Amino acid sequence: MMTELESKSWSAELQGYVGGRGGSVYAWDSVNEAMIRQWCEVFDVDFPPFTDEQEAAQSVHGGLIAPATLLPIWLMPGLRNRRPSGSDGADPRAVMKVLEREGYIGILGTNCDQEYERPLRPGERISCIHSVEAISEEKQTRMGPGHFVTFLQEFFDEAGAKVGAMRLRILRFKPKQKTSTRPSPPQPAINQDSAFFWQGLKSGQLLIQRCKACGLLRHPPGPACTECHSLEWDAVASTGRGSLFSFVVVHQPKNPAFDYPLPVGLIELEEGTRLVAPIKCADTVTLRTGMRMEAIIEPVEGEDRLPWFRPVSGS
Ligand code: ZN
Repeated sequence: MMTELESKSWSAELQGYVGGRGGSVYAWDSVNEAMIRQWCEVFDVDFPPFTDEQEAAQSVHGGLIAPATLLPIWLMPGLRNRRPSGSDGADPRAVMKVLEREGYIGILGTNCDQEYERPLRPGERISCIHSVEAISEEKQTRMGPGHFVTFLQEFFDEAGAKVGAMRLRILRFKPKQKTSTRPSPPQPAINQDSAFFWQGLKSGQLLIQRCKACGLLRHPPGPACTECHSLEWDAVASTGRGSLFSFVVVHQPKNPAFDYPLPVGLIELEEGTRLVAPIKCADTVTLRTGMRMEAIIEPVEGEDRLPWFRPVSGS
């Protein structure tokens, strides 16, 4: 957090960029018919005063004119970001570097508006003057805290008369810290047959369904005994000990609730049933089928979670 004094000096530093106007910056090229024709092709514009000399002469314009929205294009510095000689060399966006230095590294163009005083004609060579029109106090935005900076670019003809202006408003923001709370794992589909299993985990027990008629243990849970077809059942608590019957190591696709690579094992419990469960281990290359495993049951308030297993040390 900034102290009040630091906050005041920061605010003063920012506001120091507001209002000061740079020197003239010149266009590389005069307003020209080649650029106008290409612009009309790109935007599929068919308007005779832009491209047809004869029709333009008979129009209210009395001759060819340039499309108004080309205004800032004439003043673009080009890919090498250079200016014709005689232009002011100061960086019109210097305040952006200061904002970046203070951690406002995010950037979002929010709006742009243009004003046109009169149409430009081929042969005119225009210039512009850059300034920062406004910098807002820090605002809390959806993107994070930031400052809105309004850049003003005013355009002039060779006689020094204003021909237009453009305002570009940019938000420089400190991106919100990503929360470290990871999302919950996907929740299981629970039905009447399996509800006891998930309820057991919440109370710290790994339960196995048992046929009341013949005593056979079964997993995953189901309505009837696969051996005697009895519908009567209860459950017994497993010791949580077993061995690794088989496993895979998942790399993709990733679910943000888990760390990867994620080993998933088929665990054979001491009681004889098997279940699929994720495995916690320091290094997946140490996993071997047959190694002894034990359950880790960590009930989480309000969530149904699979038991995890881990190798029993020394196995
Ligand atoms: Zn049975």
